[in-house]
Amino acid sequence: MSTNFADYKNIWVYAEQRDGKLMNVALELIGEGHKLSRDISADTKVCALIVGDGIGHLAQECFEYGADQVYLIEDPLLKNFTTDGYTKVISDAINEYKPEIVMYGATHIGRDLAPRVAARMDTGLTADCTHLDVKVANYIKFANENTTLNTSSLDPDDPDTGLKMTRPAFGGNLMATIICPRTRPQMSTVRPGVMQKMERMEGATGEIINVKPAISEGDIRTKIVDIVKSAKELVSLTDADIICSGGRGLGDPSGFELIKEFADKVGGVVGSSRAAVDAGWIDHSHQVGQTGTTVKPKIYFACGISGAIQHLAGMQTSDIIVAINKDPDAPIFEVADYGIVGDLYKVIPEIIAEWDNAEA
Ligand code: FAD
Repeated sequence: MSTNFADYKNIWVYAEQRDGKLMNVALELIGEGHKLSRDISADTKVCALIVGDGIGHLAQECFEYGADQVYLIEDPLLKNFTTDGYTKVISDAINEYKPEIVMYGATHIGRDLAPRVAARMDTGLTADCTHLDVKVANYIKFANENTTLNTSSLDPDDPDTGLKMTRPAFGGNLMATIICPRTRPQMSTVRPGVMQKMERMEGATGEIINVKPAISEGDIRTKIVDIVKSAKELVSLTDADIICSGGRGLGDPSGFELIKEFADKVGGVVGSSRAAVDAGWIDHSHQVGQTGTTVKPKIYFACGISGAIQHLAGMQTSDIIVAINKDPDAPIFEVADYGIVGDLYKVIPEIIAEWDNAEA
């Protein structure tokens, strides 16, 4: 197969919206796309792709967070997400406009949609990335000189080939950097909370491209009968400034009552390690780590958590990490900015009491 690389240009971000509101990860990816686009070339644009019905107002927010262009695909049949409908219109748009990179948030919808689009495009997809990079010199070489890609001249092992997509592999024990050297677009899903949003530029504008979708009811095999929001308490770990997490060191599920009291006191939300989730002490929606949520709060309290690599993968970029653990050799202390060696059942009540004193 040969792909004409020169036909592909610009970075697209699937700007996921629900109920007419952009997901935070969409804005994070626009920020990341903005950075990558400038690394590729001065005329590479970062473009938000918004799909839905009556969602044109979201374009402005995308511009203010760094998008140069917005592709709008609107149709009453696209009001709610369906795998069939969204896959079709996005695939059609990619075929028509040929972006060289397409990024999606690794949300439930992104994880459903991106592989379907990748299969339609006959291209690769790197799921769950935590880092993206391009090297300018090599990237330009590929875009300009290898106009028609001759796969026999291409060394897929060359680490400088195009977009380098990094994700944890082998249970988080190593980081794998993956390239997509033979096909375009290069596609990845990226975990929420990993990339940085740009500073909002009030009033920023850009170009809107209205894409007329070719979609009919017959393209969508599923029918949405009703939408029922999860009855569970929603945990917004990705947006939290302060997270108080508990682990197996709590000893039993009632330990989370203390963690909740602690979180309420400091204005935070409750997180957990997987061990606590596996023990049935708390719902998975609270889990931080490789198979839970990736977080980047201003302060992360790790209470009775040893610091396994899979837990660190989800919280080690927090601004400040405070670890409370009775084992002075616990690995969590290697990433902690402040370490308290002691029994959490003594330490946390003392912090709460100090907080009360400070407030009085
Ligand atoms: P432990 O490792 O048992 O640590 C408990 C800690 O509590 C110890 O350090 C102990 O010294 C301390 N302690 C005990 N009593 C007290 C006390 N009274 N006061 C203070 N400290 C005390 N884990 C995650 O967290 N998130 C993930 O997303 C995740 N994904 C995984 C994916 C894969 C593929 C695999 C293989 C594993 C994954 N894990 C994940 C599991 C991970 O390897 C660890 O098993 C888990 O993080 C351990 O949880 P913990 O630190 O709570 O428990």
